[in-house]
Amino acid sequence: MQPFEFLRARDASQAIGAAARSSTAQQGAEVRFVAGGTTLLDLMKLDVEHPRQVIDINHLPLDKVEALPDGGLKIGALVRNSDLAHHALVQRDHAVLSQALLAGASAQLRNMATTGGNLLQRTRCVYFRDTHSACNKRAPGSGCSAIDGFNRTLAILGTSSHCIATNPSDMNVALTALEATVVIRGTQGERSVPIGEFFVLPGDTPERETVMMPGDLITHVTLPALPKGARSFYLKLRDRASYEFALASAAVVLATEDGTIRHARVAMGGVGTVPWRSPEAERALVGKPPDAATFAAAASAALANARAQSANGFKIELAKRCLTHALTTAATA
Ligand SMILES: Cc1cc2nc3c(=O)[nH]c(=O)nc-3n(C[C@H](O)[C@H](O)[C@H](O)COP(=O)(O)OP(=O)(O)OC[C@H]3O[C@@H](n4cnc5c(N)ncnc54)[C@H](O)[C@@H]3O)c2cc1C
Ligand code: SF4
Repeated sequence: MQPFEFLRARDASQAIGAAARSSTAQQGAEVRFVAGGTTLLDLMKLDVEHPRQVIDINHLPLDKVEALPDGGLKIGALVRNSDLAHHALVQRDHAVLSQALLAGASAQLRNMATTGGNLLQRTRCVYFRDTHSACNKRAPGSGCSAIDGFNRTLAILGTSSHCIATNPSDMNVALTALEATVVIRGTQGERSVPIGEFFVLPGDTPERETVMMPGDLITHVTLPALPKGARSFYLKLRDRASYEFALASAAVVLATEDGTIRHARVAMGGVGTVPWRSPEAERALVGKPPDAATFAAAASAALANARAQSANGFKIELAKRCLTHALTTAATA
């Protein structure tokens, strides 16, 4: 690990002002906030990240989950993943979020990991973490070792010829299905970014993963209320039952009335370069009966544009089955 200066932020303005001195908030940022540290410190030890200044934001008052007047939720950026997963309002009104969080990492990691840090966790592509390998995300222009290499766990949707890495988060998939908004405070004040616009596809700049700018501090995330009677569910398929990232996952929200699906939100994990919302699947669901034929059609629509790499073609069928099962469970729970 390279030497760095450590600063404990007294307040948000001080943290933002210090971080704004970084030339970027993306890969290679010279200033980084640290929350739980479970992503950042690993990457610093591996020399994948080498900030010259690390700003501890743990003392900022961003650790509350609050009910909003319209039935939605406001989740502070420093709320720990375990506290959020076990929060009574989340379990009652946004079960898919609780399920996704509990499917991630381990109990010890969830006790440290925060909402803001989880949003910004980095890919688990092995070449990204190996500084001896070419990787456009870590070292722009160096090439992509995964395209002709070990790509079994990598993406089949949203890829480019420069990067095929997946967004690894479970929480982000649930937040996408719940249509969360990320609230960011930066040098120009506060802005609200719908989660569908927060992450950016790799294209020819895979080192840029989000719309975050130097100085930007995520302060909280808001969730709208779900329609009356909506049910949600998260299913994660992986190589082993715990402490493992998704090969395919699905977060779904369904509301049915008089035997017809009136509202559907579908997001998938483990398959996309960003948390993958599927408007195609949603269109295939709304107005149809909640039965096996509808769910199979939605799963086919969701994966219609999937593009397999040499070793991850199995994910197409796996993701279809994952989504079908999640929809069936949400409809019958
Ligand atoms: C062994 C292991 C297994 C794991 N398994 C899973 C899994 O199965 N599923 C899953 O989803 N995740 C998994 N994770 C990832 C884990 O969920 C993340 O590491 C964690 O959520 C990151 O949160 P943190 O608070 O520790 O982030 P940190 O490491 O503190 O920060 C991560 C990044 O976010 C930035 N940041 C943090 N907070 C803010 C803020 N408020 N505003 C702006 N920038 C901010 C930091 O500067 C840094 O760049 C695993 C991690 C490990 C180590
Ligand atoms: S897939 Fe992306 S993260 Fe992995 S080696 Fe290629 S450029 Fe790097």
